[in-house]
Amino acid sequence: MDERTLQKRLRRITVYVIIFGVAIIAAGGLISASLRRALQDSVDSRIESATEQYRINLNRRMDADLQTLNTLAGFFQFGNMDIDTFAQGLLASYKDNNYIRMGYFGKSGTGIRVTLDAQIDMSVSVDDLNDNVAAVVREAWDGQEGISYIYSDPDLGEDVFAYAVPVYAGEEVAGALVASVSTDVFARVLEDKTAFNGQGYLHLISGSGSILIRSKERVILEKLDTIYDGRYISQQEQEKIRMALEAGENCFSNFTYEGTTYQIYLEPLGVNDWYLFCVQNMHGVANTIYQLMMVLRVITAIILLLLLVFILFGYRILKQSNRRLIRMAYYDPLTGAYNMDKFIQETSSIVNDSHDYSLVAMNVRQFKFINEIFGNRQADQLLCHIKDVIGQYVEAGEFYCRNSADMFFILLRETDRQRIKDRLKGIMDQIDRYAISNNQDYRVRMYCGVVIGTDVDEKEPSLQKSMTHVMFAVDTARTSAKNNIWFYDIHLHEDEILENYVETHMQQALENGEFKLYLQPKMDLHTGKIGGAEALVRWITDSGRIIYPGQFIPLFEKNGFCVELDMYMVERVCIQIREWLDKGKRPIRLSVNQSKLLFYEADYISNMKNLIDTYQIPADLITLEILEGLALENVDELNEKIGRLKDIGFKISMDDFGSGYSSLNTLASLNIDELKLDRVFLMRLKSSEEDDDRQRIIMREIVELAQKLNMTTVVEGVETEENEILIKSLECDFGQGYYYSQPISAKDFSKKYMETDI
Ligand code: C2E
Ligand code: CA
Ligand code: CA
Repeated sequence: MDERTLQKRLRRITVYVIIFGVAIIAAGGLISASLRRALQDSVDSRIESATEQYRINLNRRMDADLQTLNTLAGFFQFGNMDIDTFAQGLLASYKDNNYIRMGYFGKSGTGIRVTLDAQIDMSVSVDDLNDNVAAVVREAWDGQEGISYIYSDPDLGEDVFAYAVPVYAGEEVAGALVASVSTDVFARVLEDKTAFNGQGYLHLISGSGSILIRSKERVILEKLDTIYDGRYISQQEQEKIRMALEAGENCFSNFTYEGTTYQIYLEPLGVNDWYLFCVQNMHGVANTIYQLMMVLRVITAIILLLLLVFILFGYRILKQSNRRLIRMAYYDPLTGAYNMDKFIQETSSIVNDSHDYSLVAMNVRQFKFINEIFGNRQADQLLCHIKDVIGQYVEAGEFYCRNSADMFFILLRETDRQRIKDRLKGIMDQIDRYAISNNQDYRVRMYCGVVIGTDVDEKEPSLQKSMTHVMFAVDTARTSAKNNIWFYDIHLHEDEILENYVETHMQQALENGEFKLYLQPKMDLHTGKIGGAEALVRWITDSGRIIYPGQFIPLFEKNGFCVELDMYMVERVCIQIREWLDKGKRPIRLSVNQSKLLFYEADYISNMKNLIDTYQIPADLITLEILEGLALENVDELNEKIGRLKDIGFKISMDDFGSGYSSLNTLASLNIDELKLDRVFLMRLKSSEEDDDRQRIIMREIVELAQKLNMTTVVEGVETEENEILIKSLECDFGQGYYYSQPISAKDFSKKYMETDI
């Protein structure tokens, strides 16, 4: 996996984790929101019901007070009571009820008042009363009982308010009974904590927001005149409250003080424009829900944190395992050099895009031996050392790798042969100095094959082709003991390719009939007519390519396939003669080349006999061309075989005489019918006149000797008229060569030369 794939994978994992994280946050948020909602609802209903409770308590208290005053009012019956008795009754009621002041004001506007120190003012004008008190007195005169606004008692210095009820004389309102009371009455009710469990505080405020009665325990200790002072409540919330107060509606609000959020609830008391102003600590009230929310938040945070840790941890593991994978995928575990895959990856583009490089395959001579003698460990160390040395010699932009065992590839940015040689020699010399073992003095010899980009004659260069070439070159270097650096040679390579093809396809080609019979005429120099023909094989592949005997016969002689091929050719010759005979043509004698190996085949002679019999051919229509070299081994044995072949009727010819170590002695000792002078004799003629004379003498001697030994003579390689004139003058019997005809297919040959009927 490369860096990009890793990044991609990581990105995908991160996206999944983010989606998962967002889902968790969303779920947490949703749960948190619904909890908050529940918390809010619970807080709201708590505060609402608690405040309601206080409102009822307060109203009850005021109703009770008014009731008391009404009862008292019933006692005061004007007309029945004189003024003193009335005053005494008022005083008694004042004392019984803990009023601050108490008075009665007739509709005339004057009245009696019991003051703070239980003194009776007999004549007080309503106009002298506090405005708030006077207002409720006047309302009572109109038959309405009432509660005054709060005001400060001038003598007491305390906040007080007054109740007033009408006093009747018969059906008519005669006056008003009024009593002022300390606001402590309210304070006591408000400070009863039972309804809030100590988590809330109540204040009494007026419709304008001014604080009338402040709970002793409260959130904000600073003494504020109105709820808007100090800006503890946000502007927006203040507006909301103001509007609710104006409309006389209840309202929820909140404010935050020192990090804690408090809930506010305002409820109209139903008396004057008074409101109950309730403040409550949210968390205190719905503690469980609040804790649950906190737990939820903490859990979400922990999960997110874990996810983060997971990503980081996963990233590290992935990166580590990726690094390991990369090592495994791209590096040779033994030496730490690149492996082949990585080498290909790095060098492909260089090789594909330009010729400006050379590719080197470097190998250790006798590595197997090193392994066996010094052991695997030492051999491994040697490989590591080779890697180190190569590493020192390659420059930026050049690459190397170890492929298998002791095979290293190097890509150099170098095309100059001498420079390449120098650099490789540098590497090889340094490796040469390496001591595998302290005890033994063994010199490590390297050899390498090189292909230079500019020598690769291909329109589309590719690393793969360069690899094939360099492998060929290193293989050649291996077989060459002298030359340790071998540069790729295209011709050598082509031969190798062909050789390989020949070896791998020969059997199939024989079965497919790809080996064709070609014939070259032998001209009778006495008559000027055709005197025979030589059978020469041509391999015509199914793609139509012609492969000449020189390209495969030497190989077949080595691998033994010659035996099969020669017998096949003898059979083709038999078939051809048979065809001529069947067609009523006068057959000519055909020569077939017989390789040396045939003579070592046990059933060679019987096989030959079988062929003659099968095709019903007179054996003397076939000449067997043998090579002089056979005689070098065992003349007697050869003569014995020749004798048996001749007994069957075959003619025997000695081929290529004069090309090798020919000797006239051997010639004399063999019982043959024909001598073929190799074309080297005619080839040598072209040099100088003096030489030509000597050549002619030699040829003349050979021909004479052959005649004496009863052999006919054939001269090969007749290419010109002069050649013919010469051989005629030498009294040779036959001439063979391009001057007469090239070897042509049996079919063409038949058309051209076999017109004569018997
Ligand atoms: P060879 O037996 O000496 O055959 C004569 C070769 O000389 C032929 O080459 C022929 O084409 C060539 N030749 C003929 N006239 C001239 C000429 O005027 N000038 C020159 N330069 N060359 C001429 P080819 O056909 O390539 O065969 C080469 C060799 O392969 C043969 O030499 C023979 O030794 C061997 N060979 C061919 N066919 C067979 C076969 O069926 N079996 C065996 N064992 N060897 C064969
Ligand atoms: Ca021949
Ligand atoms: Ca020959």
